[in-house]
Amino acid sequence: MSVTLDTPLAKIIGDRSQKAFHKAFGYESVGDLLGHYPRRYATRGELTSIAEIPIGEQATLVAEVVSVSTRPMRQKRGSVLEVVITDGTGGVTLTFFNQAWRQKDLSPGVRGIFAGKIGLYRNSRQLAHPDYELFVDVEPSEEAREDWAKKPIPLYPATSTLASWQIAKAIGVVLDVLELKDEPVPDTIREAEGILGHYESLVHIHRPVEAAGWASAQKSLRFQEALTLQCALVARRQRQRQVAGVTRKPGEDTNAFLASLPFELTEDQVTVVNQIHEDMAAPHPMTRLVQGEVGSGKTVVAACAMVTVSQSGGQTALLAPTEVLANQHFRSLMRTLGPDASARLNPVLLTGSLPAAAKKKALLAAASGASHLIVGTHALLGDAVQFADLGLVVIDEQHRFGVDQREVLRQKGEHPHLLVLTATPIPRTVAMTVFGDLDVSTIATMPQGRSPISSHVVALADHPGWYSRVWQRVAEEVRAGRQAFVVAPAITAAVVEEDTDIEDESEELAKKPLSTVEETLPLLRGLSELSGMRIEALHGRMPSAEKDDVMSAFAAGDIDVLIATTVIEVGIDVPNASVMVILDADRFGVSQLHQLRGRVGRGEYGGTCLLVSYAETGTNARERVEVVASTLDGFELAAKDLELRSEGDVLGVRQSGVRSRLKLLRVTRDGDVIDAARTYAEALVEKDPGLVDYPGLRAEIGRRLDDGSEEYLEKT
Ligand code: ADP
Ligand code: MG
Repeated sequence: MSVTLDTPLAKIIGDRSQKAFHKAFGYESVGDLLGHYPRRYATRGELTSIAEIPIGEQATLVAEVVSVSTRPMRQKRGSVLEVVITDGTGGVTLTFFNQAWRQKDLSPGVRGIFAGKIGLYRNSRQLAHPDYELFVDVEPSEEAREDWAKKPIPLYPATSTLASWQIAKAIGVVLDVLELKDEPVPDTIREAEGILGHYESLVHIHRPVEAAGWASAQKSLRFQEALTLQCALVARRQRQRQVAGVTRKPGEDTNAFLASLPFELTEDQVTVVNQIHEDMAAPHPMTRLVQGEVGSGKTVVAACAMVTVSQSGGQTALLAPTEVLANQHFRSLMRTLGPDASARLNPVLLTGSLPAAAKKKALLAAASGASHLIVGTHALLGDAVQFADLGLVVIDEQHRFGVDQREVLRQKGEHPHLLVLTATPIPRTVAMTVFGDLDVSTIATMPQGRSPISSHVVALADHPGWYSRVWQRVAEEVRAGRQAFVVAPAITAAVVEEDTDIEDESEELAKKPLSTVEETLPLLRGLSELSGMRIEALHGRMPSAEKDDVMSAFAAGDIDVLIATTVIEVGIDVPNASVMVILDADRFGVSQLHQLRGRVGRGEYGGTCLLVSYAETGTNARERVEVVASTLDGFELAAKDLELRSEGDVLGVRQSGVRSRLKLLRVTRDGDVIDAARTYAEALVEKDPGLVDYPGLRAEIGRRLDDGSEEYLEKT
């Protein structure tokens, strides 16, 4: 039997071991196990510092036995074997109960790897029943000793049931029988980039002879990951481009719409409008992502595309993530389009909570073509929804929708054009990785006359007295005729608002429970600073009619202070709102805070954002709010955010539709690699769209990505 990466693991290491690996890591195939790369490498010469291992933590350390002794147990019958080991920085006592036989292996001077949970017993550090492996193959010769000391020991991410060397052993067994046929990275590229072969890389990453070995293995496997991912994305983009689209060209209506705008488009807006018009005039459907800060004017650009599509009778469907947002979009589009374009497009709203009669009317308007603009939520994806001539799909806030959802909507037309709008600035390498199948446009500049938002951290840990200053500040704004948002992370103590990304850091997790809308409402109403003000609440669990009422009342200026959850995060446009107080600001993610504060300062009045936090100076939580307060540059924040959070969040499964199985590649750090891989991927896919001549690459795509690859596999 020839063993490949796809061979079931159980066949090689046996059922019992495979079950252990499955339970710990979910591994099923040989490839899964070989993808379990070492977390780091120790050298036998290098001693891990025992002194620094925190109590209670699973640790793997290289150390030397100093002394061995046995003593009878205090309470029970039997004996305790106590072995003191040291790594030069400190000592730890290994204890074994009734296992005196180990004494003959663990004699002073013997070195090995020891693993277990460090505990504290009678004030000394202890490893009870550790797993260990001794370096019994020590060669007495000076030279061999040196080689041996230099040889890196891979240390794997381990669990309490699978220790690092048990993993190493299983990997060794698999490596010995593995036969790889086709290289994922084509030979010419490997030569040009100095990339090792696949098998060689796996050997060097798992069984390095010297440090340089694993370093170049990591480099090679990292490049392989980047190339695999980029090829999949470029190929998907290519497939999207092969279909014929309906061309949509600007005309009189477009010109009239642009002329009707009460302002000049910014340079970036003009550029993006032109890109969209070029895309839609081409023979293949547009697939474009437009990113721009909140308030940078994306809606106007999208509206222009809608008018152009309707010029030739086409309809636009706009998909928004929530009802509140769909409503908001509907209103702001009507406003942006102006009376003439609105009359021509005849926009309708289609959401789940619509009364049956209204829904029927909206469905009819979509199916008959009476409406050229249908704005809605997930309700748009339903089977009952049909379009007369769906020419353009606009998706708002891509990060909330998966690729499959956008595809469901696109299926309702004849390869309609696609425009994705996102206000979450995405660093370029992330865009290339997550949205690699879309063309990206950026609106980088804000329209003139927008007053900047000033943001401040209200650090209650340092200055408890500032709490009352916050409400005085809110009162000042309200008295000057402005309005205020107060944002809390949770609705009630038990319910966190949907889509609120609560940061959870066990070490820093505030003992304090999250602020809730439910408790804050009476609290604010009772504050002397805010007496006489109209204070209401808004959150995602309210019936949608009620939500709409509150939003309309706030928009109309009938509410002074709105205490809300993140339902107000995107798209809510009330130019008169000038101050936002974010409670427990440190519990939100950086991007979310940035999104939230974009709700104020949208009018001629400056905006103020007060980030209320109990986090102590120097904690990660405090760092997040300080970072947000320090800059308004969304791109800079996105980059900082990347540093502060894990990769997994960035490449969220929902975002990409490409299951992120990146192991060595880091979008934060490996921009160069991703760039290079992208260039190669484009050349490869252009020359050989089905990658027919590259079976190794094709197989790797299938292994790593759980969608977008099936077409490839079918062609094999
Ligand atoms: P976004 O959708 O990117 O958040 P919008 O398109 O809703 O931004 O624009 C925010 C506000 O700025 C709207 O009130 C809009 O009318 C206004 N606006 C858009 N473009 C310009 C411009 N070029 N000059 C002045 N105001 C603009
Ligand atoms: Mg908008």
